[in-house]
Amino acid sequence: MPTSVAAVTPPSESVVDRFLRYVRIDTQSKEEQSTTPSTPTQWTLANLLASELRQLGASEVRVSDECMVYARIPGNAPAASDVPVVGFLAHVDTSPAVTGAGVNPVVHRNYRGGDIVLPNDPTQIITVAQHPVLATMIGDDIITTDGTTLLGSDDKAGVATIMTLVDVLAHNPQIVHGEVAIGFTADEEIGSGIDQFDVDAFGADVAYTVDGEGLGEINDETWSARQATVTFGGVSTHPGTAKGVMVNSIYAFAWYLSQMPRDMLPETTEGREGFVHPYLGSADVEQSVAKIILRDFDVEGLEAKERLLRDLAAATEARFPGVTARVDVKENYRNMKEVLKNHPELIEYAFEATRRAGIEPFMNPIRGGTDGTKLTFRGLPCPNLFTGGHEFHSKLEFNSRRGLEKTTETLVHLVQIFAERTGSASTTASATAAR
Ligand SMILES: [Zn+2]
Repeated sequence: MPTSVAAVTPPSESVVDRFLRYVRIDTQSKEEQSTTPSTPTQWTLANLLASELRQLGASEVRVSDECMVYARIPGNAPAASDVPVVGFLAHVDTSPAVTGAGVNPVVHRNYRGGDIVLPNDPTQIITVAQHPVLATMIGDDIITTDGTTLLGSDDKAGVATIMTLVDVLAHNPQIVHGEVAIGFTADEEIGSGIDQFDVDAFGADVAYTVDGEGLGEINDETWSARQATVTFGGVSTHPGTAKGVMVNSIYAFAWYLSQMPRDMLPETTEGREGFVHPYLGSADVEQSVAKIILRDFDVEGLEAKERLLRDLAAATEARFPGVTARVDVKENYRNMKEVLKNHPELIEYAFEATRRAGIEPFMNPIRGGTDGTKLTFRGLPCPNLFTGGHEFHSKLEFNSRRGLEKTTETLVHLVQIFAERTGSASTTASATAAR
């Protein structure tokens, strides 16, 4: 029988207290910086986590020059070396979109239902109409901001639950598990931190980012993402003597953008539908440039969107004689499902762990990317697990006591399931398959 979480010695600090402590530390990252971490404040949390990991008995704890925290928990399974090394990752930074300075978390104990008005800005209201999940949270302790900052549950919920996993394992030698690798990353929100993450030093065979949303949601699919730069060339002259000479690229640029299909934009799509999204541009007589991102879950869908942009460029040249229209496309990242479909056991074990925590698991494709997307293509298969959080990157961000506790329980079950399924007691075939 698997060890039930109810029977374990509780952690030295509750996951809620840990979470409330971490969210008060400003770790907002910043776009367009040349260094990792992009902000020095991220060191504060990274260094704190390293010192707490050491106190909890983790081994090989270190913080890299790029503010990445690495640690290991030795396995205690009878044949621990047969069990794949499972990694858990969370990011210390918070979104540049909303301030993370002076976060003042508010715990709404024993929630009785109804809209939640945030105390220091009454215009910020978490409504039942917009957040039907509230109806499932009666009796829970809901954790919000005071209305003036983001909460930073994204991803301090991941950090706090992973740290509590370490705490639980340290105080419960009867919980059987293989070796566990812990990684905390900087600058996830600006997309660049993970490039500085040392996958070999991390030393995991498989991993999970703990950076998802509501309880039970597991992600093994992200966008496939490309970015197009469309450059329109014209001919500039003095407008007083322009007749028959000037070719104004601005009209071509404007017409091109007006041709984006209405039903293929971020503001008109959801679920599994992809989009094209012009998000930045500059217009000048001689040269105009449009930056457009392309997103789809399927490579064919992405190819079709790229073709559309190229066909429109040709149509623009035909319509505006003398104008050149060039399309340059680069790949940002690919749908991690391309790789994760070869590792079905990662999702199977995560589902089993979630059910043992009393939560019904479900899959949802992410309309975005995660640190795991890039790691998966660098050889470390890495799906994403829920954290109990909602409304990321906003002043309405919230989580709850149950969200944090159930996420922690799921992680504790997950390391045990790996030991049960792939350790010496299980068949050699499945152990090999998981490595
Ligand atoms: Zn996140």
